[in-house]
Amino acid sequence: MQNKIAQIAAKIKAGGNNVVFTGAGISTESGIPDYRSQGGIWDKFRPVYFDEFMSSKDARAEYWRRWVELYQGIAAAQPNPAHLALARLHDLGLLQAVVTQNVDGLHQESGLPDEKIVELHGNTCRIRCMGCRQIMAVEDVQQRLTAGDPAPECQCGGYLKPDTISFGQSMPVAEVERAVGLSRGSDFFLVVGSTLLVQPAAHMPIYAKDNDAFLSIINLSETPCDRMCDVLIREKAGLALQEIVKAVEKG
Ligand SMILES: [Zn+2]
Repeated sequence: MQNKIAQIAAKIKAGGNNVVFTGAGISTESGIPDYRSQGGIWDKFRPVYFDEFMSSKDARAEYWRRWVELYQGIAAAQPNPAHLALARLHDLGLLQAVVTQNVDGLHQESGLPDEKIVELHGNTCRIRCMGCRQIMAVEDVQQRLTAGDPAPECQCGGYLKPDTISFGQSMPVAEVERAVGLSRGSDFFLVVGSTLLVQPAAHMPIYAKDNDAFLSIINLSETPCDRMCDVLIREKAGLALQEIVKAVEKG
């Protein structure tokens, strides 16, 4: 693995546009389950689709019951060595942006500034009104749920909803465009902990390759982009990224 680490470190230090793409695999070491994997939460429960959320109070109540359980785990989770390694690359001036499929907010918690993070699937630590689009304090919403309000609503009458992309909800246009732009303009593109099976994630490494970017993947399982990638590391994200940062700092 050391040779691969050295290759990646050299590319990062080359001073081009370094873009990192992260998926659930970067957060499993923080104790956050991969919701879409087998045995994940969506295997146990049928998902609540966006249309149901907007049209049925029962569906909203069900969604919020699940969120309470999910959010407990996320609120207790800490950034792990993989998140911290990426924040370190940013501190060193070597990271252009992180595009993430995760909704756990752990990149922000690791110290990476908001403007460096593109959240393709939103953020479950943020609550938004589906009417006036305002962001609500998560603590207030939690209090209302605890007090027995099964599906809190905004003062404007709109439904409050965790600010994530639900099943059946369209992708956020601005974020996807930004992610595509970053991928197309990258010189070094690193995938961490994503199987790259869903769109638009699946396309980002291809955009990067179109720009002749150096493509690296750190993931425990196979991805459809393994064959086109320059360096592939089958290892836990925390270990691999720590080694990469060590190599970057040493040279
Ligand atoms: Zn509102």
